[in-house]
Amino acid sequence: MDGATTAATTPILILLGPPGAGKGTQARKLEEGFGLIQLSTGDLLRAAVAAGTEAGKSAEAVMKAGGLVSDEIVLAILTDRLAQDDCAKGVVLDGFPRTTAQAEALDAMLAERGQGISAVISLEVDDEAMVRRVAGRFTCGNCGEGFHEDFKPTAIDGVCDACGSRNMTRRADDNADTARSRLQAYHEQTAPLVAYYDARGTLARVDAMGDIEDISTQISRIVASA
Ligand code: AMP
Repeated sequence: MDGATTAATTPILILLGPPGAGKGTQARKLEEGFGLIQLSTGDLLRAAVAAGTEAGKSAEAVMKAGGLVSDEIVLAILTDRLAQDDCAKGVVLDGFPRTTAQAEALDAMLAERGQGISAVISLEVDDEAMVRRVAGRFTCGNCGEGFHEDFKPTAIDGVCDACGSRNMTRRADDNADTARSRLQAYHEQTAPLVAYYDARGTLARVDAMGDIEDISTQISRIVASA
């Protein structure tokens, strides 16, 4: 890592990777393991859609189609969230940045505060497997535990293994067609960020096709030495 981009006091981590790569799962593990705050722009946007805000109304159709919401809306939502006190503990950005313009805006925002990015972790996966992963996944609406129809089914049909809730939710954009559009958006607009951060010396690559716990161990090592 080079000195110019290394964080001062607040850890700021970025998880890069296509839909289904495990960014959300690994971000939650980093919350538990390192006391960081998971900042998912997808979650923030879904909350804005559910709340019916102006930003949510503009974002909804784009999200359903698997495209990218405008940089303007995403940056406004993220800046508001980053300004909240809990983020001083350090954050793990999940699903942001997704365009070079967002990465540049983040660099400028952090430079203004005398901060920098601690590490960018690229979760490297296989495209077709991602479509299968995304199309079968669902989440407990009560505790946030993630499941998958084939790879991680609940022990009792429809009941969360972690908290016992029956409130299972499935994202509107988690179907095979939208997953392919989201993958395309990833390759066209987000994948160039791998080279962007590699050139700045902050990038670590992790093979994210294997076991969740093994991947988590590798990521924890990277974070601990960042
Ligand atoms: P995610 O939960 O990260 O898979 O994001 C779900 C959807 O929200 C994406 O397919 C985009 O439509 C939108 N989205 C999330 N984060 C961003 C971002 N940083 N820039 C643009 N659109 C985003």
